[in-house]
Order: sequence, then C-alpha cells, then structure tokens
Amino acid sequence: INKESSRLMNLVQDTLLLTKQNHRIDKKKLNLTTLIQDILNTSRPQISEKNLHLEAQVDNITFKTNQQMVHSIFENLIENAIKYTPNDGKIIVSLQTKDRKVIFSVTDNGPGLTEIQKERIFDRFYRVDESRSEVRGTGLGLSIVEKNVQELQGHIDVVSIIGKGTTFTVTL
Ligand code: ATP
Ligand code: MG
Repeated sequence: INKESSRLMNLVQDTLLLTKQNHRIDKKKLNLTTLIQDILNTSRPQISEKNLHLEAQVDNITFKTNQQMVHSIFENLIENAIKYTPNDGKIIVSLQTKDRKVIFSVTDNGPGLTEIQKERIFDRFYRVDESRSEVRGTGLGLSIVEKNVQELQGHIDVVSIIGKGTTFTVTL
C-alpha cells in the first residue's frame, strides 16, 4: 500500500509539474546514462522477482534537458515493461544518439497491444482489460509520458504485435 501511494504521489507531482512548467522548462546538462542506471537499480527487486532477463544497451550520453521530465518518461516506460511482461520475459532498454538526437527505447516480449488498444493507451485512465487485470495501476503513466515528451518537443512511437511484445521509442 505504501509503495502504491508513493507512486500515486509521484504521478500527482508530475501532473502538477506539467501545469506549473507550461511556460518555462528548466534545462540542465544531464547524464542520461546514470539516470537510466538509477532507475534500473531501483527496479532490481521487481526484475529479479519476475526473473526477467534485462538487456541494457546504453551509450554514455549527456544531454541538456529537464531532469524531472526525462526521469518520469524513462521511469514510466521501464516500469510498464516490467509490470506487463510475464515471468521469465525479456526487456531491452536502449539509449543512443543519432543526428544530434537522443533515442531511448524499451522493448519487451510481453502481451503486446492491438491497433485499437495502441490508439487508446495514451488516454488518461485507460487500461487494457481493466476488469481482468491483476496488475495494478491508475492508467495515468503513459498520458504523463506523452505530455512530457510533447513539452520537450520530442516524439514517442509505439510498435507492438499482439502476443509478441511492444517497443516504445522516445526521440528527444
Ligand atoms: P500507472 O498510472 O500506474 O502507470 P498503468 O500502467 O495502468 O498505470 P499506463 O502506464 O498509462 O497506465 O498504461 C496504460 C495501459 O497500457 C496499461 O494499463 C496497459 O494495459 C497498457 N500497457 C502499457 N505499457 C504496456 C506494455 N509495455 N505492454 C503491454 N501493455 C502495456
Ligand atoms: Mg504505467
């Protein structure tokens, strides 16, 4: 319960941050590699509990951006991959640069999404199969991710095959 409520507090904070920051986004030079390592380290218990195979192809990249927003984007996508991938699954987290852009992606071999689900996952409070889902959540994570990506003038892409897995790619 404590973990769930602190997650909720984080989501509320992220939402407030977005409204506050509407006009000015503070950017600082940030080491994205350590940021991802920190998130992965925090997720270590869930990863080993589900016996997930984690592959991190993370280049050493520093980038001028907003720390809280990027942290929230990376954390939500990694957390979803861990949550929705069944035991013994595989997750690949990758970070690279191309044409002065940063490309971050998370691939899992979880349940995947249909075309219709893919269109709705960024909607606030939308959850696939809410009534049957054993995995808890508010359905807010991806809507916050999308808002943050927009604020940072980046874009997000989803490629998913039902029954095979999903890849979220964020370009900043
Ligand atoms: P929270 O607000 O705690 O993040 P949530 O994870 O349910 O709750 P979102 O992160 O917005 O909410 O995701 C919306 C829905 O999209 C999820 O409920 C899930 O059904 C689906 N989804 C998200 N990521 C994946 C994924 N990697 N594989 C399969 N389905 C996913
Ligand atoms: Mg989520």
